Amino acid sequence: MKRNHLQAAFEKQKRFKTKVEGYRKKPLDLSKAKEVPEGLYEKCDQCGKALISKDMVKNHYVCPACDHHFRLRAIERISITVDPHSFIEKGLGFITLNPLFVDHYENKIAEYKKATSLDDAYIYGYAQINNNPLVLGVLDSHFMMGSMGSVVGEKVAKSIEYAMVKRLPLIMFIASGGARMQEGIFSLMQMAKTAGAIKKLHNQGLLFISVLTHPTTGGVTASFASLGDIILAEPKALIGFAGPRVIKQTIKQSLPEGFQRAEFLLEKGMIDKVVHRKDMRETLHKLLVMHQRG
Ligand SMILES: [Zn+2]
Repeated sequence: MKRNHLQAAFEKQKRFKTKVEGYRKKPLDLSKAKEVPEGLYEKCDQCGKALISKDMVKNHYVCPACDHHFRLRAIERISITVDPHSFIEKGLGFITLNPLFVDHYENKIAEYKKATSLDDAYIYGYAQINNNPLVLGVLDSHFMMGSMGSVVGEKVAKSIEYAMVKRLPLIMFIASGGARMQEGIFSLMQMAKTAGAIKKLHNQGLLFISVLTHPTTGGVTASFASLGDIILAEPKALIGFAGPRVIKQTIKQSLPEGFQRAEFLLEKGMIDKVVHRKDMRETLHKLLVMHQRG
């Protein structure tokens, strides 16, 4: 009898599972965030100035000449935001499969895992800011543009549940290209799942602060990222659903200057405040204290 397509697909999936590489068993080593070799330079993407990497670390990866905010790796973000040694990573043990059998997807994942030391684009855990406890989640755009597949969606939902169990405020730093194309509908399902989880968090009266960083786009903007009780953004961050080129082609009109940038969206009321990276930790601290339960 001829096997049907579904049967064949299941068998392929079974075979694939046996080949999956193991997940990270230990929490990330945050001390690596500050390890920069002497004499290393990098060029500012915006003004082109050569900058000493060591100085960049001290300056929170902001260009001293033009104020350009460099994209941060998750460990860098955690280390400049929360109290030293306070971050305890949760939600280890999730690995991405290839549910739609997209060619080379497993290889791509393996490459990103190696390059970033992350299992996927989202990491979360318990942390403190000036001794105020919270749950911190960070999307890392260095892992497949911070796109949301089933693992990112599941871990985002887990971090929300963790905040509910511990009755703690939740702060998320977002940077994402949107839904992950390679996971098709499984990726899009995560939008409903994460938005639903945030609704439960709201119903319990817990605080959710969403910090939008460059770039925040697509299905992530259209789900949990825009559902913060308070929505902050870094200067000049690109925030939107579709890209400006697609919108321009669709509506056949030219777009206003600064369209989809943080400052433009502040003016239009989509976000609450644009916060410079050097002031972020203090701003979050103030917000946490203000919203403490009496
Ligand atoms: Zn610059």
